[in-house]
Amino acid sequence: MERFNKSRVILMPCRDYDEEEIYRQLQVGIRLLGGLEGLIEKREKILLKPNLVRKAEVDRAVITHPAVMGALARILREEGYENIICGDSCGIGTASRTMAGTGMERQMEKYGIPVTDFSHPVKVDYPQGHQAKQFVIAQDALDADAIINVCKMKTHALERVTGAVKNMYGCVCGLQKAKGHTLYPNAESFARMLIDLNQLLKPRLYLMDGIVAMEGNGPTSGDPVKMGVMLLSADPIALDAVFCRLVDLDPQMVPTNVHGMQYGLGTWKTEEIEVFTPDGEVSMEEAVSRWGNPGYRVDREKYGKNIWNALKALKIFQKKPYIVEEKCRRCGICVESCPVEGKAVTFKNGRENIPVYNYRKCIRCFCCQEMCPHKAIEVK
Ligand code: SF4
Ligand code: SF4
Repeated sequence: MERFNKSRVILMPCRDYDEEEIYRQLQVGIRLLGGLEGLIEKREKILLKPNLVRKAEVDRAVITHPAVMGALARILREEGYENIICGDSCGIGTASRTMAGTGMERQMEKYGIPVTDFSHPVKVDYPQGHQAKQFVIAQDALDADAIINVCKMKTHALERVTGAVKNMYGCVCGLQKAKGHTLYPNAESFARMLIDLNQLLKPRLYLMDGIVAMEGNGPTSGDPVKMGVMLLSADPIALDAVFCRLVDLDPQMVPTNVHGMQYGLGTWKTEEIEVFTPDGEVSMEEAVSRWGNPGYRVDREKYGKNIWNALKALKIFQKKPYIVEEKCRRCGICVESCPVEGKAVTFKNGRENIPVYNYRKCIRCFCCQEMCPHKAIEVK
């Protein structure tokens, strides 16, 4: 917002994960954003923060694609940035183990970028937070001068979508992430906390991999869908709003957009956003008609206030996680991931049967659905 009259979002069309094409598009995209030098000084320490939520094959669209990370790393090196690391705190496992075998580890090695597992947590007071007054954050994220958030275009059971704003949650260390769900147990409070986190860590740049996105039962059990775009911006709310427009979701339905704008992180309003492609400026309408996908499967249900909220408070019509028996392999990861004391999902009927939910205890954080490695949990 400071550098241009409006929040600028660059839409870079990419048919597939061809490394050269991504590199070329990204080069132009960065130029259209005013160049890296205006955003990051050469002497500064850069942290690349991909989405490495958990181990999965690259073509399942769970994690940021290695080709996008490689193209970004190449540009940074060519522009003379020397002090670069890459890290994330995954839902399960470490960043190095999660990226092993995906090709991302080879990209990082090729450009001499060390991978950090965010294993040193630091308690940080944040009295100015609107929702969160304290975080337990990875030392490496705090030590970085400039974070580049390289997120993935996906659906999310709690926040409808996960993009630029939500990806920063990976800077919160290990089990503290699960604890966060008990401290901020609904979509609104969780979104406000995410805004605080973005304002505390202040990433300089947000890049979204939407070449193949995830739709449906995201953020880890959905289906890959070709969207053919990357988005780049210094304003994470504008970037997520463009993502919403492309998939025919009202940006105001996403709590991170609403609270992000309310607290000054950015704007979701179309009239305050300018969309550029390598061929020049396009209206939001044109961007949607050329690169949008109205059939993208995402929760577009309107939850009204008043009576509906009262029913939700009684947990009658809230979304719930369900286990699909035929898909469940009784691995127990859902039980381990549940942050509720005493667990809201347990092997009540023994390990030979599927886990059972106690919906009275369940806070609907959907950590179990996010972490199930066998796509066995659906949210309805
Ligand atoms: S994580 Fe998924 S597969 Fe494993 S026990 Fe839970 S529902 Fe079944
Ligand atoms: S059962 Fe699942 S959705 Fe419910 S609190 Fe536990 S992890 Fe969250």
